Amino acid sequence: MKHTLPIFNWSLRRLLDAEPDSLKKARISIIFTILIFSLIKGAVALPGAFYAGQDLQLFRIILLLGIFSVLLKFLLAHRKYAANIGMILIWVGLFLTWSNAFVTAQTINIATIQVVVMIILSSFYLVNWRWALIYSFLGILPVSILLIVGEEVRLVKIDPNQLASPFYEIVVVLNFLTIVIAHFLYYQALNRSVSEKEALNLQLQQAVKEANMAVQSKADFLSTMSHELRTPLNSVIGMTQLLLNSPYTEEQSENLKIVNFSAMNLHMLINDILDFNKMESDKLSLEAIPVDLYRLVNNICLGMRFQAEEKGLELNVTIDERLKDQQVITDPTRLTQIIHNLLGNAIKFTHSGSVSIALDVLEAVDDSITINFSITDTGIGINIEQQALIFEAFMQASSSTTRNFGGTGLGLAIVKRLLGLFGSDVQVKSSEGQGSEFYFDISFSLSGPDKEVPETDSKMQYDISSLRVLVVEDNPINSLLLKKILSNWNNLPVFTLNGYEAIEEVERNEYDVILMDIHMPLLDGYATARIIREMTDVSKASIPIIALTASVSNDLYNKIKSVGMNDYINKPFNSDDLYRKLKNIGSRTHDVLVEIPG
Ligand code: ADP
Repeated sequence: MKHTLPIFNWSLRRLLDAEPDSLKKARISIIFTILIFSLIKGAVALPGAFYAGQDLQLFRIILLLGIFSVLLKFLLAHRKYAANIGMILIWVGLFLTWSNAFVTAQTINIATIQVVVMIILSSFYLVNWRWALIYSFLGILPVSILLIVGEEVRLVKIDPNQLASPFYEIVVVLNFLTIVIAHFLYYQALNRSVSEKEALNLQLQQAVKEANMAVQSKADFLSTMSHELRTPLNSVIGMTQLLLNSPYTEEQSENLKIVNFSAMNLHMLINDILDFNKMESDKLSLEAIPVDLYRLVNNICLGMRFQAEEKGLELNVTIDERLKDQQVITDPTRLTQIIHNLLGNAIKFTHSGSVSIALDVLEAVDDSITINFSITDTGIGINIEQQALIFEAFMQASSSTTRNFGGTGLGLAIVKRLLGLFGSDVQVKSSEGQGSEFYFDISFSLSGPDKEVPETDSKMQYDISSLRVLVVEDNPINSLLLKKILSNWNNLPVFTLNGYEAIEEVERNEYDVILMDIHMPLLDGYATARIIREMTDVSKASIPIIALTASVSNDLYNKIKSVGMNDYINKPFNSDDLYRKLKNIGSRTHDVLVEIPG
């Protein structure tokens, strides 16, 4: 705020208007009050000293009148002088106290005590507390000296060199008035400042509330949009995969692969945005289940080998032998996501040579193990400046990256945040043109040897054609997709559109398994599952229910379990996954294991 005052400003109001801070305003008013009262006191004392012929007093009064007038002019000229003028006033007060005590009155009189009190309060109101203590001490010192060494202490005494009555009394009364007004001004300013801060606090709270609501609505919008986008995309992916399994010409096959590749990329991008959104609103937490790291990493690499080989790259996997048949407690989905992202980048940014992943056991104590994960490539590399940026959301090493390689710059930001949940952090070693290494350490709790049942012989297949499947799904495309996938195994499911229809159907007929969408109108998947679990007929109440869901967070997983659902299948439906889960249920329900000849 810039306020220019006239050169000969005499208005306190104008000066105060130029000062926004209420405590500083109070300081200016206090200094102004002290100066005005001092000038009045000088004007009162001047004739008194003159008629009494007190030359020393007269000289002192004229000197002080001069000083106070100059200070007043400076104060009114600009608020920036206020602090220095306050300091000078305190020094003048000290001069008065010391000269009163040892030169003019040579005793402790009421006026001296008043000046000491004014020094103390002005010091605390006008300067900082350290100087205030020093000035207070300097003010009290002459009084203390006189009390200790003075011949006799005459508290209210009019000395020859002291002002004559009634001038002395007027000065004393004006001193009292100065003290009262200074206190009053400071108290008022303090009150105003507290209420201003309270009002500001309220505004701040309101602003924080609105900002939080804006963040929440952004998160909700993103989440809803991503879900809405995923539903049709799931159908595109599902249908493309179905088409890929049926006869087609070479050209059609190429086209379908492109559609599939693009749809999968779009799907991954939407998942990334959803994940990032969840991380931003701290909604992401880790699952803790036994995982065979050896198998997990090999499986991830199996999936990515094709991608690497298509680019003519070698994919090396080195896993510490000590991890064989060893299970650790961790979140396989999130760990897969981390490795998938880093390995995916390594393949993407490498034109020739190899990409490698290595897992080394750094430390293994009784029930915990620390593993170093390292993903190396012989690709384009990243220079030092870029290394500092790439872990930020939506940041790529250079503006040409998107043009040449695609991507959004979210992958590494997600990796970094996910690793934070694992209590770790990702590091990078790289130089341009020389390849890169991304590495991190994670400590896991051990869960004992892998007791998983060995995979069934691939020649053995379950016949699930006779499995009585009830599908509860409101989206016609998803229903069509499920119908087509299930028809591959000669299974004819029954379809219902919402929870109420499903409950009627379960009451009317016998089913072996229910595939239940979570988000449905009228009665959603959770409520429907709960009602089925509460049915009096035990065989109906215990029908296995598999949730159909677009995303599984810990929250969702716990909710699925809490309403008594047995399992879930992610959309877009992976037919192998669906087959495996139906097979498990089939093997429990009927003895349907058959051997496929050949
Ligand atoms: P995206 O891959 O979608 O661009 P990321 O967050 O995964 O986003 O990566 C950010 C940037 O870091 C990339 O755009 C790329 O410039 C750089 N980068 C990541 N991994 C590598 C790698 N292995 N080699 C070279 N550059 C990389």
